[in-house]
Amino acid sequence: MSNNEQPARHIVSLSGGKDSTALAIYLRDRIPNLEYVFCDTGEELRETYSYLDRLEVFLGKEIKRLKARQSFDDMLKARGGFLPSGQVRWCTEYLKIKPFEEYIGDSICHNYIGIRADETYRKGYISTKPNIIAHYPFIEEGIRKEDVIRILEESGLGLPEYYQWRSRSGCYFCFFQQKIEWLGLLEHHPDLYEKAESYEKENPETGERYTWSQKESLKELRSPERRKAILEEYERRKDHPLKSRGNLTLANIFTPEESEDESCLICHL
Ligand code: SF4
Repeated sequence: MSNNEQPARHIVSLSGGKDSTALAIYLRDRIPNLEYVFCDTGEELRETYSYLDRLEVFLGKEIKRLKARQSFDDMLKARGGFLPSGQVRWCTEYLKIKPFEEYIGDSICHNYIGIRADETYRKGYISTKPNIIAHYPFIEEGIRKEDVIRILEESGLGLPEYYQWRSRSGCYFCFFQQKIEWLGLLEHHPDLYEKAESYEKENPETGERYTWSQKESLKELRSPERRKAILEEYERRKDHPLKSRGNLTLANIFTPEESEDESCLICHL
């Protein structure tokens, strides 16, 4: 039997975020033989791993954890310390998409993605292999943010714990983080903040800097002056009139260029 004659697979790719989790719950009893997959970069927050463990219990089925052949550190070394960024997202490609594609191989795979009906503007990296067919059940069925929250509450899982200070799932050092979220990391996981800081480098000859956050290093970002300014800016945007009308979310309280959501679907749903 050739690969294409094998029965098609049905897979929800989980990120550890609220939308893909709600989708797994939503589809659990709707699609027979549904598989659950999480591409583990090895650099996720502890809260993400424990949320996935709880989800696995709820689903009553294994969540397959996939890992790349090389660690993030090895890949970084091979790239001369060149940190990934929004423009050069080698991390997504090698730590998330490739392990997923290798796991699927050549079999036909229906891949269910948790973009909601109220965020159809979202785009981002997903696999483009022809045998991986993307489906968007929440868009097709008009499931919005409030529905996702209801699904999670009714399941007893609720939201991931990190949502108290961070708006999306993914690696602790993810460059898509807002400045206020970096401060959240500093407060909740000072060890991880320090670790992220240790990756930042400056080339003494050229002055070129490799930093996670645009325009400043994490050392600069955590200075008392910058913390104060970031918190003030956050408070100012939180009180924006649109916010009180529910039209502004945590993810776009920040600066306009930072709110352009081009984060990776496989990492942040
Ligand atoms: S979560 Fe962020 S840092 Fe991690 S793989 Fe995805 S884009 Fe890269």
